[in-house]
Amino acid sequence: MNVQPCARCGYGVYPAEKINCIDQTWHKACFHCEVCKMMLTVNNFVSHEKKPYCQAHFNIMEDHCLDSQKKER
Ligand SMILES: [Zn+2]
Ligand SMILES: [Zn+2]
Repeated sequence: MNVQPCARCGYGVYPAEKINCIDQTWHKACFHCEVCKMMLTVNNFVSHEKKPYCQAHFNIMEDHCLDSQKKER
């Protein structure tokens, strides 16, 4: 069976705990905001430089960096 490595922890991700986002594979538990570690879902995350952020921290970053790729889902 082909198990892909998690983009954050590097361990294999089985289908039951898999999230496919930002062209990468994540454990559900590993898919959290880079800053506050809040757990995210495919419905409420925002990606920046291939990393997931919560809406609040993305907004803060956007003030510093205008290279945003906001996703409306
Ligand atoms: Zn992981
Ligand atoms: Zn956050």
